[in-house]
Amino acid sequence: MPQYTPPLRDMQFVLHEMLNVEGALKKLPPHADIDAATIDSVLEEGGKFCAEVLYPLNRVGDREGCTYHGDGVVTTPTGFKEAYQQFVEAGWGGLGMDPDYGGQGLPHVVHSAFMEMMNSANQAWTMYPGLSHGAYNALHAFGTDEQKNLYLPKLVSGEWTGTMCLTEPHAGTDLGILKTKAEPNADGSYSITGTKIFISAGEHDMAQNIVHLVLARLPDAPGGTKGISLFIVPKFIPKADGSLGKRNAFKCGAIEHKMGIHGNATCVMNFDGATGWMVGAPNKGLMAMFVMMNSARLGVGMQSLGLAEVAYQNSLAYAKERLQSRSLTGPKLKDKPADPIIVHPDVRRMLLTQKAYVEAARAFTYWAGLAIDVEHKHPDEKVRKDNADLVALLTPVVKGFITDNGYESTTLAMQVLGGHGYISEWGLEQHVRDARINMIYEGTNTIQALDLLGRKVLGDMGARLMKFGKAMQAALAPFGEMSEMQEFLAPFNALQSEVQKLTMEIGQRAMKNPDEVGAAAVPYLRLIGHLVFSFAWCYAAGVALRKQDSGDAFYKTKLVTARFYFAKLYPETAALIAQARAGSQSLMELEAASF
Ligand SMILES: Cc1cc2nc3c(=O)[nH]c(=O)nc-3n(C[C@H](O)[C@H](O)[C@H](O)COP(=O)(O)OP(=O)(O)OC[C@H]3O[C@@H](n4cnc5c(N)ncnc54)[C@H](O)[C@@H]3O)c2cc1C
Repeated sequence: MPQYTPPLRDMQFVLHEMLNVEGALKKLPPHADIDAATIDSVLEEGGKFCAEVLYPLNRVGDREGCTYHGDGVVTTPTGFKEAYQQFVEAGWGGLGMDPDYGGQGLPHVVHSAFMEMMNSANQAWTMYPGLSHGAYNALHAFGTDEQKNLYLPKLVSGEWTGTMCLTEPHAGTDLGILKTKAEPNADGSYSITGTKIFISAGEHDMAQNIVHLVLARLPDAPGGTKGISLFIVPKFIPKADGSLGKRNAFKCGAIEHKMGIHGNATCVMNFDGATGWMVGAPNKGLMAMFVMMNSARLGVGMQSLGLAEVAYQNSLAYAKERLQSRSLTGPKLKDKPADPIIVHPDVRRMLLTQKAYVEAARAFTYWAGLAIDVEHKHPDEKVRKDNADLVALLTPVVKGFITDNGYESTTLAMQVLGGHGYISEWGLEQHVRDARINMIYEGTNTIQALDLLGRKVLGDMGARLMKFGKAMQAALAPFGEMSEMQEFLAPFNALQSEVQKLTMEIGQRAMKNPDEVGAAAVPYLRLIGHLVFSFAWCYAAGVALRKQDSGDAFYKTKLVTARFYFAKLYPETAALIAQARAGSQSLMELEAASF
């Protein structure tokens, strides 16, 4: 039967042995007192909640899905509501949130690790509180004091959930053409009218109130993205004391039937003169929404990390049990009719690919979580700015690279089980279906790639990329003297200089033809993903080499996985460089009619 065990040992390796979070957090005044033991016990408890409460609901949610009852009423699968109640009562929702609004104020990096486990256990369920977290971030950054005092405590406690309402039937990637209207009322509020589609957690029965953050246009707004404002539109309009007032003028018109994440309600929302309040300045809504979108993009990376981990665990357990064929080098279990499939080189390729992707993704996302803590809480402005630059540069890579790998990993996990992987009973096919959406929503992975290459790299003439390069070199410098490190450092250094060369080439070509950016962006993002992963594997190998005589097999396994990464996955970089270099001509030559 499917199973999930929180991978606490590897999480601790990343947090304590790679990132030294306790030391890093000591430099951030709000977190100076937190120690490794506290972090471990929070994650151990959180892991129990994920494995014991959320995971058993994962297949129930997939099978039952959400139900639309007409007249705007949506119910979630059996057990979802009760699990959410437990989550709220235990205070898990407020883990990384501001104590001024009732949160526990733990560092973002700890919250990230908890999110990984929640997503392994049940991505569809986790999206309900996950979206609240994004709404909290946007309101925390841009809300007035009155808005913060009214909404944040309820979002922090989890009594209310949040959503992000961007997409319209004709406006997905291109938000500049959205049509939802916001007309000013005499009392300072706005009347919101329009239809939003694909709104995750738009309507459900898990919380008393749902706080929608809606993008809309003022009557005199300029066209395009410069004319979009952001509004809070609550399902029940709260009174000043936070109690629920009258029902607002909008409804869920339908829920979508879809490939995966069945337990999460994907809603059509019809706003019909609904009352809303502006967040931030007029026509600057996209900027405020970007806070929510960036947090969601990192969150989507965590979704795929979580799914890839649970899929890996199940395919590994199966590969150790399933007896088929003999090992090419002769029988390993002579008293059995066949050997376990883990003896076969290609089954090992599939398992090690998942393992290498998962463990590097864990290091990458937790590092990003820690960088967000430093960006917001370090006393030195320059350190804050440097970390903000790295987070901005790497957010599209977390989203794009980890979700692409997450889909590949879950597909490989399914393949390890052969035909049994395709059968629902084992749970693997659900992970594949669930993982697929992560490459699409929160900006498709193509859009992430364009953001990375166009805006984040070429947009500042490579300054952030250079800063990142220096940061990686500085982090690896202590391992530079170790002769055993050369097998890892040499390919990493080679890739870093290839990336520099390629970036300059694309930059020069893009000055003559902007399509060159669009043509190179997707392989370029994958290439940067590999640059980050080869850095992560160098660092992990360095830590493991120092401890290889400890007698703990964990470090040997790390080293072998690092070698596997460089031998079998890193070589993709040569093909990616060739693809990015191949330019736009073969893509753009045909007229649309000639396809
Ligand atoms: C299950 C689910 C949940 C969702 N949840 C939410 C939510 O909570 N809130 C919300 O607001 N939205 C949500 N969405 C919407 C989601 O974010 C959009 O589907 C996504 O941004 C893509 O928009 P689109 O579907 O209109 O595709 P389009 O924008 O029409 O894109 C179609 C294709 O064209 C490509 N493309 C478009 N423009 C460009 C370009 N400039 N350059 C290169 N390629 C381009 C895209 O990459 C894509 O491959 C959800 C969607 C789904 C399916």
